[in-house]
Amino acid sequence: MPELPEVETTRRGLAPHLQGRCIRTALVRNPRLRWPVPRQLPALVAGRRIRRLERRSKYLLLDCDGGWLILHLGMSGSLRMVPADTPAGPHDHVDLVLDTGIALRLHDPRRFGAVLWEPREPSCHKLLQGLAPEPLEAAFTAQWLFERTRGRKTAIKNVLMDNHLVCGVGNIYANESLFRAAIHPARAAGRISRPRYARLVEEIRATLRAAIQAGGSSLRDFVRADGSPGHFQQQYLVYGRSGQACPRCGHTIRAVRIGQRSAFYCPGCQR
Ligand SMILES: [Zn+2]
Repeated sequence: MPELPEVETTRRGLAPHLQGRCIRTALVRNPRLRWPVPRQLPALVAGRRIRRLERRSKYLLLDCDGGWLILHLGMSGSLRMVPADTPAGPHDHVDLVLDTGIALRLHDPRRFGAVLWEPREPSCHKLLQGLAPEPLEAAFTAQWLFERTRGRKTAIKNVLMDNHLVCGVGNIYANESLFRAAIHPARAAGRISRPRYARLVEEIRATLRAAIQAGGSSLRDFVRADGSPGHFQQQYLVYGRSGQACPRCGHTIRAVRIGQRSAFYCPGCQR
């Protein structure tokens, strides 16, 4: 599933191809995504100039000069730039055709992605209202987490995946950040001290930045016509490594379920 670093990498890769371009039309081959693609989308976007491509949480936001196109990649979505006459495959559901003859093509086999229109600011859209701070922005601090977790017995890993407290960390990066901060994923969030939260916030940022940087090196690939989707192989410290030795202390890494998701941790050095 594309997580925040993949979405940010996608944004950085696509922005130079989109910004300043005019939209000729939208081709909707299948409107049945996570939410229906607006029927009037072609009329809404035709002739508009794309001012910039932004990101909020895992949403890509296309400023169309008088309205915003909101894109989400869902579980399996990917975006690439192709010559507009490139034959579409069975999962290529939406094209945004530019005046350059190039199209932004959404490929989404599982159709949990989204293509929506918001005539006001994107923060007015119901999906983006009340989103917590971005983990890479200044509003996300140890103090923010500390204050909001006092008295809470919720496992810290679930707190990191709660979009009302911090948005877009995701399962892989929650596991990796907790390992790097030496915090057990099932530890009650209310029983973590302020200094440990300070360390955790630093590790979340470092983990996400490293992942974005790793993605940056694959940018050239994912805008190519044969379109590798902008995901990238990374070396994880604990994620997906149950049964292997901890890179820090040598204990065997374990996998457990916390809140229906896999948690990977080292019983030797995470408390
Ligand atoms: Zn360890």
